[in-house]
Amino acid sequence: MTDDTSKKQKESIAGRFKRLLAPESDCGCGGGGCCGNVKSDRKRNMADEPTTLTEDELVDEIRAWAEQYARDHDLVLNPDERVRNAVIRGLARNQLRYGRRYCPCRIRKGVPEEDAKIACPCVYHRDEIASEGKCHCNLFFRKGAVGREE
Ligand code: SF4
Repeated sequence: MTDDTSKKQKESIAGRFKRLLAPESDCGCGGGGCCGNVKSDRKRNMADEPTTLTEDELVDEIRAWAEQYARDHDLVLNPDERVRNAVIRGLARNQLRYGRRYCPCRIRKGVPEEDAKIACPCVYHRDEIASEGKCHCNLFFRKGAVGREE
């Protein structure tokens, strides 16, 4: 990888997290979901995995699931609370909006069979953790890889 490519990738990752951490969508989608920063609107739940939980309740549920998933698979969650919370909230918002916990760091195609691949935990995370030490969203890390993510 060239220095130029590496620099672009870092800028891309920084931009992604800036959008995830924004209190409201600032990416121009108007809360439409491309960045995961959708406004909570329980009436827009899809039937696939209906929930009556509020966004905050879903956040708590997903956090508990992610902690258990990490324990079960010998992983750790990102110790950076802001990033960890932003990803978890993005998952909760996607579940409220689209009915599934789609990865907030990837773009849905609108094709159910394709989009199923990016429902968390996505089909890519194992390979990403094996090769890079972490998943694309920086939620799950291989033990020992935390702190070496740059
Ligand atoms: S990259 Fe995959 S495993 Fe990581 S948060 Fe996104 S969907 Fe989940």
